[in-house]
Amino acid sequence: MSSIDDSPPHEPVMVEEVLENLCLHPGDIILDCTVGGGGHAIKIMDKIKPDGCLIGIDKDFEMLNMTKQYLSNRGCSFRLYHANYSDVDEVLKMANIDKVHGVLLDLGVSSLQFDMAERGFSFSKEGRLDMRMDRSSSFTAQDLLRKISERELEELLRKYGEERWSKRIARRVIKERSECELKSTTQLAKLIERTVPVKKSRIHPATKVFQALRIAVNRELENLEIFLNKIHNFMEKGARIAVISFHSLEDRIVKNSFIEMADKNIFHIVTKKPLRPGASEIGKNVRSRSAKLRVAERI
Ligand code: SAH
Repeated sequence: MSSIDDSPPHEPVMVEEVLENLCLHPGDIILDCTVGGGGHAIKIMDKIKPDGCLIGIDKDFEMLNMTKQYLSNRGCSFRLYHANYSDVDEVLKMANIDKVHGVLLDLGVSSLQFDMAERGFSFSKEGRLDMRMDRSSSFTAQDLLRKISERELEELLRKYGEERWSKRIARRVIKERSECELKSTTQLAKLIERTVPVKKSRIHPATKVFQALRIAVNRELENLEIFLNKIHNFMEKGARIAVISFHSLEDRIVKNSFIEMADKNIFHIVTKKPLRPGASEIGKNVRSRSAKLRVAERI
């Protein structure tokens, strides 16, 4: 007899709020565009089984292989696609599905990806400066840092990291780069520590720089905008979309897109203000700390 391990590989964020707001029914077809470790997916499958179907998308092939095992034998069918969610139209065409009853987007990287040192997402774990969510793409953070000009880097850090010391850091990176190639996460983190004034802050001085590089390498904001502009075409009337974002740049895009769609009578905005995790969730799962959940319904 095979035993099923029920502890999720990735602790899903705001899962109760997501389930409640997606208003799931048995038989629904639900699209999880960032299926990751399957933490949300498995809970969704519980609500739509036995006849429903979960369509899961992720850019990270290794993640999908692992998640396939985790979601198997749960009494609900599912299909996983290695794709960019900005190509959702192609995925649904491949799946032979016109419209879905609910959509989830849980942005950013998962704690699983973050914890794998070799993926290069974490400044506190020694690894190559990689940061690709999709390891079949060829452009890494190391490539970016090898080619970018000082002015472009400064702008990137300001725009995607809202980094106060962007000018100083950009200058230092370019100087250091001329002496030896920037290859590792901790090498970059130490450089930033030496560059910005020491402050007893809640966050590490490299946090925003790493966020900015990750957003650029994975073209996160562009993908989000492309996706939000077309997803309504694939939602049944009454279907809901729930988006969890983790920083103000993403949240602003989601908020403005929902407003624009509401003006066009395409969406009804369910959450006038974004929902936030409760104190007990933040205490248990640090990744949830900055989460914001926005929900809209297809008219
Ligand atoms: N909800 C998941 C965790 C999601 S973490 C769970 O509960 O387990 C975010 C996931 O989205 C990561 O696995 C990342 O690889 C994926 N991702 C980020 N941007 C993407 C994109 N543009 N297309 C497809 N997947 C993406």
